Amino acid sequence: MSELSQLSQLKSFNKLTSDSFHQQKHFIKKVLSGRITQCPQCHQNLTINMNNTDEQSTIRCAKKCTDIELDCS
Ligand SMILES: [Zn+2]
Repeated sequence: MSELSQLSQLKSFNKLTSDSFHQQKHFIKKVLSGRITQCPQCHQNLTINMNNTDEQSTIRCAKKCTDIELDCS
């Protein structure tokens, strides 16, 4: 019984991360197209840091509750 409940927790966790991955992709698209400029959590302005040499491009808010690495190379 406990194994079964662990398994279902694992499944829902996987679904959650998969969903949030797609939400994040969607979110990034919106930010890059200029439609969202505020963090959905703290409502601070988001800043987009574009690639400098070997540093990853990121989308961040001032409090860093939004801190997304962009994988466009
Ligand atoms: Zn934030």
